[in-house]
Amino acid sequence: MENFNYHRPATVAAAAALLKKSKDGVYLAGGHTILPTMKQGLRAPKDVVDLSGIKAMSGIKASAGAVVIGAGTTHMEVASSSAVKKAIPALAEMAGKIGGVHVRHKGTIGGSIANADPASDYPSACLALGATIVTNQRKIPADKFFTGLFQTALKKGEIITAVSFPIPKRAAHQKFPNPASRYALTGVFVAQGKDGKARVGVTGAGPAAFRVADMEAALSKEFSEKSIAAIKVPPRGLLNDMHATAAYRAHLVSVLARRAVAAAK
Ligand SMILES: Cc1cc2nc3c(=O)[nH]c(=O)nc-3n(C[C@H](O)[C@H](O)[C@H](O)COP(=O)(O)OP(=O)(O)OC[C@H]3O[C@@H](n4cnc5c(N)ncnc54)[C@H](O)[C@@H]3O)c2cc1C
Repeated sequence: MENFNYHRPATVAAAAALLKKSKDGVYLAGGHTILPTMKQGLRAPKDVVDLSGIKAMSGIKASAGAVVIGAGTTHMEVASSSAVKKAIPALAEMAGKIGGVHVRHKGTIGGSIANADPASDYPSACLALGATIVTNQRKIPADKFFTGLFQTALKKGEIITAVSFPIPKRAAHQKFPNPASRYALTGVFVAQGKDGKARVGVTGAGPAAFRVADMEAALSKEFSEKSIAAIKVPPRGLLNDMHATAAYRAHLVSVLARRAVAAAK
């Protein structure tokens, strides 16, 4: 790892100013992606701006309509939050299945979403629940946020400060985890909004998280396993690697979506 300047600002504005001033700076949250990348020499930033000292970016607030989670909140805090468990139990369960215990105690929702790993779990929840990604500059609907493999709509230096999840009528998450890392080989998050409309978010299967329009239309008419039993996802464009073929991932989407519908509460 190369030498770098370490900064730990106390406010979002100070963090943004530090990154703007730096020629080649990065934000640090839980460090579970950025630190291994630096150790492997894939990134050698001159400045590392640690966001963990910013109190305004932590914590969970639930209201009648939404759960708002500060970007610095760890997966373990989401998994064990009584407010999340009550409002969106599927989200707490999903956070509880991320990685191993060390990853859950350090990894943050903001870091996970900013990183947009195709196999990470939060993107599927963001899409299925119709979340809004709140930054220091604007509010970005989840549908416009995940733009490609490790690509997001974030501009250089933009900081995710919170993620707002509307509370659904019911939801569930199912994943087929990689047995070593627990990353999603494929994961499906299904939610039915209070207006009856269903949304299906898929992660792990494609280069970026995506929704399945045919399943959403069928589930919005009748929220049952039967209504999506015949719907297949074409393997074209899905990931094809040493872990699984595109055809296998496409098959998993159908299986996991049916299981999620059956489990939704
Ligand atoms: C062994 C292992 C297993 C894992 N298993 C899973 C799994 O099963 N499911 C899953 O979803 N994830 C998994 N992860 C990923 C992990 O959960 C972290 O969420 C992820 O690495 C990034 O979060 P972080 O807080 O560590 O971010 P960091 O590594 O600190 O940062 C990641 C990137 O996001 C940027 N960033 C961080 N915070 C912000 C912010 N607020 N605004 C803008 N940019 C920001 C950083 O600059 C960096 O580019 C695993 C990781 C490991 C190492």
